[in-house]
Amino acid sequence: MTTVSQLDLNEKKAIIRVDFNVPLNEEKKVTDNTRILAAKPTIDAVLSAGGSCILMSHLGRPKGITPDLSLEHILSEVEDVLGQKVIFAKDSTGEDAKTKAAQLKAGEILLLENLRFHAEETAGHENFAKELAQLADVYINDAFGTAHRAHASTTIIAQYFDENKAVGKLLEQEIVAIDKVLKTGEKPVLAILGGSKVSSKITIIENILDKVDHLIIGGGMAYTFIKAQGGTVGNSICEDDYLDYTLELLKKAKAKKVQIHLPVDVIATTEFSNEKERKTLKANEIEDGWEGLDAGPKSLSLFKEVVLKSKTILWNGPLGVFEFSNFANGTIELGTFIAESTAAGSFSLVGGGDSVAAVKQFGFAEKVSYVSTGGGAMLESLEGKTLPGIAALKA
Ligand code: AMP
Repeated sequence: MTTVSQLDLNEKKAIIRVDFNVPLNEEKKVTDNTRILAAKPTIDAVLSAGGSCILMSHLGRPKGITPDLSLEHILSEVEDVLGQKVIFAKDSTGEDAKTKAAQLKAGEILLLENLRFHAEETAGHENFAKELAQLADVYINDAFGTAHRAHASTTIIAQYFDENKAVGKLLEQEIVAIDKVLKTGEKPVLAILGGSKVSSKITIIENILDKVDHLIIGGGMAYTFIKAQGGTVGNSICEDDYLDYTLELLKKAKAKKVQIHLPVDVIATTEFSNEKERKTLKANEIEDGWEGLDAGPKSLSLFKEVVLKSKTILWNGPLGVFEFSNFANGTIELGTFIAESTAAGSFSLVGGGDSVAAVKQFGFAEKVSYVSTGGGAMLESLEGKTLPGIAALKA
């Protein structure tokens, strides 16, 4: 796959699929510019190689033209982050975009209006993709967050650029981080899966059993495994339809010599709330009327030992209901163990949804090796799927 530094960009117009799907407040001001910052290295690389940038993104899920979701709202934030003036085209295709793209000079940046104002974007329409392609000489995809979608701007457009297409720096980092965990990771390799339901992580578990030495199963998912093995889980979240399946998984793991680690004790309470009475119970002896919402101290010291002896760590999903302050301890502690292991030289990747929110909320983002920027795209990568946006860059 070609990288940005391998492209000839001198006097070239690069159309870059970025992920500027940023949160806006009521005044339509950007409240978190992480995604704009994340696109800056690729944009800077294009400009310093003598090219110009045409930036395209979606924002939200508009049905047709929706002024509240115009990318014009984020224009001044983009200018602040990139440190220069940015021209805005009031549609992603059509005369305004064509004229402004044609007039774009080396060193300049053009931002196109929200791609999803056209239904053709998510439908992956060829003509729409072709119109976007005609604005530029080269195509760069730097939007990991949408790389699992075969949309016009993320996948279909690539066919119009022959070899003049490349993976952006952010997307490249994501691919490298996933490969480090699933393909080239130094052993022992550990995956920590948490979150609410085992049913939503089945394909991930099946895929990673071939790749890891240890698997910690925490959070709400753990209770289905515990009940399947004869434990009582009280009112804890449990998927009875998956009891047999989890036993199968445990057998498969044994055959593949993967060590599974489940919680041995939990912090339980009497209803799904932050405020009720709490007590520590054995994970397989939870009384009726009680439900486990966090990992207990014995579980955490077991998990700590595994984390500290692992050289490659993948973390997806919290160990408890971290949104409730009284049940956030397990998730926070786990973050501390991973940070410690990382400081001692292991490679750690946090990805896919709520664990990313947790590492940010509790201040671990700088202390792990890599925090993924894509929820669904990361989950599909962990499931072993080839993402269409990445495949298109290779074709
Ligand atoms: P997921 O989207 O499957 O990764 O699940 C994340 C959610 O799992 C978070 O919102 C947590 O609050 C929830 N969760 C974690 N542990 C538990 C638990 N023991 N009981 C209920 N929900 C949990």
